[in-house]
Amino acid sequence: MADGTPATGCCWGQLGVGAPRPVKPPRRHVEEHGDMPRSLPVLLLLAVVALGGCGSLIVTQLKPQTLAAKRGFTWTTQASGDFVIYVEPGSPGERQLDRIERDAAQAKQRVLEVVDEPGYPPVVSIFVVDSRDRMKQLIGRRSNATAYYTTNTMCIVVGETIRAHAAHELFHIVAMNAWGVPRRWINEGLAVYAAGQWSGHDTHALCRYLQEQGQLPSLQDLMRRFAKLPGLVSYPAAGSFMRYLYETHGLETVKAVWRRDALDEATGMSVEELDVAWRSVLASADAEGITYEVN
Ligand SMILES: [Zn+2]
Repeated sequence: MADGTPATGCCWGQLGVGAPRPVKPPRRHVEEHGDMPRSLPVLLLLAVVALGGCGSLIVTQLKPQTLAAKRGFTWTTQASGDFVIYVEPGSPGERQLDRIERDAAQAKQRVLEVVDEPGYPPVVSIFVVDSRDRMKQLIGRRSNATAYYTTNTMCIVVGETIRAHAAHELFHIVAMNAWGVPRRWINEGLAVYAAGQWSGHDTHALCRYLQEQGQLPSLQDLMRRFAKLPGLVSYPAAGSFMRYLYETHGLETVKAVWRRDALDEATGMSVEELDVAWRSVLASADAEGITYEVN
């Protein structure tokens, strides 16, 4: 999961209910943000800090009807044209319902900018719970945020110390419906880019900081070992690289990489050359004042 950051080619007609499936076979896929250290006093304002748990899990894509009827849960709903938001009575989510709705609307605007499309017709269901434990009761796993793209549904935590933002998850939903299911590092990287920042930091600045700390993986390492790297490193690194790719090579290149996973073919550059070019962008980022604990 993941806040504030992210052309043509996708027909939004493909995104409607009952419309053709994404490019690749619709693998059962969920985007999850989990493994948050419990002691971390983080307020995730604009992005979900996904600490290693968001990824390609082969799980059932939960339907909103299933979640709405889940035993042990009572929901209050608020519907706009684009979203139906479910909160529990008396919860922080209920108290922040209007803010959540505004955030979701802004998130949609940002996501549509990134994918360069005029709209996304399906209504997205957002289930809000107040803790990772409550999330486990709802979906069966501890997580800060999870997206089910085939059912246009996301579940997020809005509590005392975690406030997941919708942009990261909404990006997963919209992009996978529009472009298919890519490799995980690409999916997460572009979702971080769409969210606009990572844990309150500019992604390039944070990666320069990680580089100075000797913690920034090579691009090759990131591509090969994304799931094995600490989430606090792999997510912002992938976000920074995909931002470089988007802003330097353009959306069509990003879409080609998303669909075919062939960086060299899409860019005309080797992975090593791309790594150098990415780091040269990081060299002009300002890491001054950043403090960030990886472990
Ligand atoms: Zn994600």
